[in-house]
Amino acid sequence: MLRRKLESDLVEMWVGQDKTEEEQLFRESIRRFVIETINPVTFDAKKDYKTTSRKLYRKAGERGILSLSIPQELGGQGGTAVLQGIAREEMGRGKVIGYGLPWPLSWTHVNFAEGCSGDLVKEWMPRFLNGEASLGLASTEPKSGSDVASIVANGVKKGDKYILNGEKGPMSSVSTTDAFIILARTGTNDAGARGVTAFFAEADRPGIEYYQLEAMEDSADLGGFRMNNLELSLDHVVGEEGKGFYQQMKAFDIERAIMPMAYLGATMDSLELSLEYAKNREVWGRPIATYEGVMFPLIEAVTKVESIRSFCYQVLRNYDERKRITKEAAMMRWYVTRVCLDALDACIQANGAQGYTDNVPHQRRYRWVRAGLFGHGTQEIQKLVIAREILGKEIYDQALGRK
Ligand SMILES: Cc1cc2nc3c(=O)[nH]c(=O)nc-3n(C[C@H](O)[C@H](O)[C@H](O)COP(=O)(O)OP(=O)(O)OC[C@H]3O[C@@H](n4cnc5c(N)ncnc54)[C@H](O)[C@@H]3O)c2cc1C
Repeated sequence: MLRRKLESDLVEMWVGQDKTEEEQLFRESIRRFVIETINPVTFDAKKDYKTTSRKLYRKAGERGILSLSIPQELGGQGGTAVLQGIAREEMGRGKVIGYGLPWPLSWTHVNFAEGCSGDLVKEWMPRFLNGEASLGLASTEPKSGSDVASIVANGVKKGDKYILNGEKGPMSSVSTTDAFIILARTGTNDAGARGVTAFFAEADRPGIEYYQLEAMEDSADLGGFRMNNLELSLDHVVGEEGKGFYQQMKAFDIERAIMPMAYLGATMDSLELSLEYAKNREVWGRPIATYEGVMFPLIEAVTKVESIRSFCYQVLRNYDERKRITKEAAMMRWYVTRVCLDALDACIQANGAQGYTDNVPHQRRYRWVRAGLFGHGTQEIQKLVIAREILGKEIYDQALGRK
């Protein structure tokens, strides 16, 4: 592997997952981007992650990384799921942790480009693709997270406008996002998911009042906003009225499968660094790697990461072959996160007090990866999805208290 060959005396640890020359060259190009562009601007999360993150988005836009996940007909590159996974994995290895990283764009952008009017898309989509502007999803509400169908923020049609009221949050990147896709209720409460519509809203509109939340990881930029008679013209409806929930759900499988690839990359890098540290750090006159209490947790973590990684690439390849991956993507979302958290915890411990500091990336990564047990559905919701796929919808509906 490029970085290890350059910087380390460890033997190559990981099984190669690239099956074609294209995949190999792509991995090398992203790794070079990380080494040459991302790592030199490593920032203190508490000080300047917002401006640094913006700059990185512009650079990733110029390199075509943001557009990788967007279909060609919408101005993107239509990259395979495997290439998207490689990009996430390699960027996860970077020294800028988590939320500041310029990931390829998400399905929310596809929904916007497919579902909004020509003028809005012409104005905003090029800016999303070149990294000049960012788009966030405002689905969660203080009283409605996992059960999206129960959201209460509402949109009422009045003449040629919708008027939105209610509260959204917690959500990430709240102070740096330039526009949101907001899910709001336009139907009755009884209509459940069928009463939810998606709206595009520029972040600086009157009628939006923001607040910040102190979070476990600062760069999450966690917060929310209250909508007080937020006015949106009819062209700001994304797709069809009443379809907002289903539009977002369409992409859950691939989004659940892609994100954990970044956690894998981060954890692989942390394990490499920690093994090297254990090989060189001496306590009682011996390298700490010679103590089974240090060596075994790291080696167990390498074993788990190695095995789960092969499963992940297989799931991404299945998706590229148009196979259904609902069950496997839910497995990836919670289980990869759990494996990575345990591995990062082992890294923190092996590094002693240094592991608790910003001198090494492990504790920052741990705080970032921890959010993975919430995003795109909590770990409990992922397990319910897996159970639905195995046990059937009847059991799933009963588990959720539906008749
Ligand atoms: C860092 C971070 C970034 C985020 N970014 C965004 C964002 O950009 N946009 C956005 O809209 N949201 C965002 N969220 C919110 C996230 O999507 C929600 O936290 C998530 O959907 C869970 O909702 P909740 O927090 O309201 O928990 P709840 O739904 O209230 O659940 C509370 C607990 O109960 C469990 N639970 C609920 N139902 C069941 C059940 N049937 N069986 C078993 N257990 C159950 C849950 O798993 C959870 O542990 C973010 C959250 C975090 C932490």
